[in-house]
Amino acid sequence: MPETGSGASPAFIISRVPFRDNDLILGLMTRGDGPVSVIARSARNSRRRFFGVLDFFIVLDVVRSPGRGGLDVLVGAEPLRFFPGIHESLERLQAGQSILQAVRNVSRDAPFGPGMFDRLVESFGELEKAPSAAAHMILLETVFALSGELGHAPVDGKCPLCGLAKTAFSINGDGIFACRECCRPTGGCVCQVSFGQSPDAGLYERPVFTMAGGDPPGPADVSMIVEAVVAGITGHHSPGGGPDGDQPDEDKGQHRQGQHW
Ligand SMILES: [Zn+2]
Repeated sequence: MPETGSGASPAFIISRVPFRDNDLILGLMTRGDGPVSVIARSARNSRRRFFGVLDFFIVLDVVRSPGRGGLDVLVGAEPLRFFPGIHESLERLQAGQSILQAVRNVSRDAPFGPGMFDRLVESFGELEKAPSAAAHMILLETVFALSGELGHAPVDGKCPLCGLAKTAFSINGDGIFACRECCRPTGGCVCQVSFGQSPDAGLYERPVFTMAGGDPPGPADVSMIVEAVVAGITGHHSPGGGPDGDQPDEDKGQHRQGQHW
């Protein structure tokens, strides 16, 4: 039987669940078709088929064919690129897992194009080289890019709310990005993001994140911001508590933000 189906395309695994005795149900983020679910038959009892490649942080060239019930069958998976450095530091691994979790959450509702796929692969490459103490910043930059790709964060210097060109924005406690003028009435600005050229001449203009107190966000700040931004994208806010329940004092934040404002 020819292995035609949807053809070969780059993909990486975003979820992985054992099924029946020997199968795996995989959530794949494909470059061409966005998120798809596949069943990998006999993936757990064969040392030849798919051996060692059906894992996180591997870009695969996958071949799938249509199956029953909307679940494609994984026919082939050849590794294209590994990111072993992600597995060598707990901080990098946690940041990588948080990236995958954010992708899982937003991909239910949002369209995913090849540009976003490429950006995520770029993030894996940066994450595996990042110092452990900076891994959370790769997570924050990635989720910021994800939000921008989906139209929720400023990508071309324009405020998503008023459309005016600005150089700095605030991230609200509800995960909404806004310029200073738009942020004031909505309140709850928790983190400022401004734009400057990457010192290492990277591929994209790097955002600079600053907490209300003037410090760069730490790992706990990043967890809070990422949760809020993902909630802002999906429109699902946790009732009570969570990012909505604990907003910093707006006036204090604005007086302590330094020269940017
Ligand atoms: Zn605005």
